[in-house]
Amino acid sequence: MAIAKRPSTEMRERRFEYAAAPEATDHLKIADSYSLFIGGRFVEPHSRRRFATVNPATGQTLSEVAEADDADVDRAVTAAADAFRSWSRLSGAKRARHIFRLSRLMQERARELAVLETMDGGKPIKESRDVDVPLAAAHFFYYAGWADKLEWAFPNRRPRPLGVAGQVIPWNFPLLMLAWKIAPALAAGNTVVLKPAETTPLSALAFADICQQADLPPGVVNILTGAGSTGASLVGHPDVRKVAFTGSTEVGKEIQRATAGSGKHLTLELGGKAANIVFEDAPLDQAIEGIVNGIYFNQGHVCCAGSRLLVQESILEPLLAKLKSRLGTLRVGDPLDKNTDVGAINSRAQLEKIEGLVNSGIEEGAEIYQPACDLPERGYWFRPTIFTNVAQSYRIAREEIFGPVLSVLTFRTPDEAVEKANNTPYGLSAGVWTDKGSRILWLAERMRAGVVWANTFNRFDPTSPFGGYKESGFGREGGLHGLAAYVELD
Ligand code: NAP
Ligand code: MG
Repeated sequence: MAIAKRPSTEMRERRFEYAAAPEATDHLKIADSYSLFIGGRFVEPHSRRRFATVNPATGQTLSEVAEADDADVDRAVTAAADAFRSWSRLSGAKRARHIFRLSRLMQERARELAVLETMDGGKPIKESRDVDVPLAAAHFFYYAGWADKLEWAFPNRRPRPLGVAGQVIPWNFPLLMLAWKIAPALAAGNTVVLKPAETTPLSALAFADICQQADLPPGVVNILTGAGSTGASLVGHPDVRKVAFTGSTEVGKEIQRATAGSGKHLTLELGGKAANIVFEDAPLDQAIEGIVNGIYFNQGHVCCAGSRLLVQESILEPLLAKLKSRLGTLRVGDPLDKNTDVGAINSRAQLEKIEGLVNSGIEEGAEIYQPACDLPERGYWFRPTIFTNVAQSYRIAREEIFGPVLSVLTFRTPDEAVEKANNTPYGLSAGVWTDKGSRILWLAERMRAGVVWANTFNRFDPTSPFGGYKESGFGREGGLHGLAAYVELD
């Protein structure tokens, strides 16, 4: 029998066909409507208003959730302020016990949370199952460990909690962003009022149910669903002592203006336009996987996405050939299918934003590449896209697209790579691919970015601080830095 040394052209070009492997949803109970979680109970909104949250993969309404108004915000902040008196005086060990319990229940209910996250937001089940939910539980687990060790976290200082934290999060990693916000706040002895994004409120409401199940003292965690105006009202409430916001730079600036002079503590985690830099000595196959993970993970709805690929000119051709061929193997479609790589775009509004920016790229003269793939008929979808012939001045090279769209630029020397990579108002993350350790260190020192990944991309760990420079915001989440944002130090 002859053994073929190389795959035939036919083999290379044949895409593997996979049978459908949908995750079951029958274990999940989504109510027709939800109320607000205030003072440990689900209560009717004062506003009497509700709005729909849809599954972006089908366009179908999943549930109606409450829209909190100013009176609801006031009720929630008052409940949190009442709870603060006893929660902040509880021993660290007792607080830890509560937070460990939240973490364990999230692990126990991981399957339900993953399916809910995927249905409400459109992300592939393998991502919510393997990344979002385990990382969210890990954040609670990690910060629970600090709750009784605050004096060791800040040696020779006397850490004190701040009070009520008002927290506003986006739709791209709903449960994970909730964990980044709530876990350190509770560990340090604060109480919280959190507003999830309009399009993805369901996992935060499931977390409210977990708080009840865990017997968390009433008012320590309050969840207010609502719109941008609910967020603005929460941020502006006079009894909120700490504001933590993750979202767009535009809204971040508004919040900074609104809180200026109020004495409120503020951290802002905003947008990004990260450079992913590939040198000619990089292991190419590994780099291709890193590029794909960097921009197509979570449909590119990632603040630290590697959306600007900077390639050393000498390897542009082989790299693009490999990248295009790899794109052809990505499976786009039903987010609940365990084989899906790229799911649904989170909302119609986001799809329109992506389409607008992609059209601007074509009009400005960039060359577009998209693999042939069938898209479902219903719901919101966008093909993985590569732009070449991109000038730094084009909108697709400057503005955050927040979709599965990669802009490819080139450089000749390391200095040019640094200059182009830093040529952005943002500064959240960067990636570097090279065989040389010295070059990694040289480049990391010169990058104006909060995180620089070397020969990898989009890696997260609760112990590692994350945050931006310039218009990507200020403050750090994760690790000791994340805890420091929730204490006053005497
Ligand atoms: P967004 O429009 O700024 O919304 C973020 C959150 O703020 C949502 O809950 C939103 O409510 C609320 N909001 C809107 N207007 C507000 C106001 N005036 N005052 C207070 N809250 C307000 O951002 P997005 O489009 O949802 O999220 C995408 C952005 O988040 C991207 O720019 C991305 O880079 C950034 N992001 C950053 C990080 C990071 O760690 N740096 C992580 C994830 C995402 P509604 O949902 O009702 O509009
Ligand atoms: Mg939704």
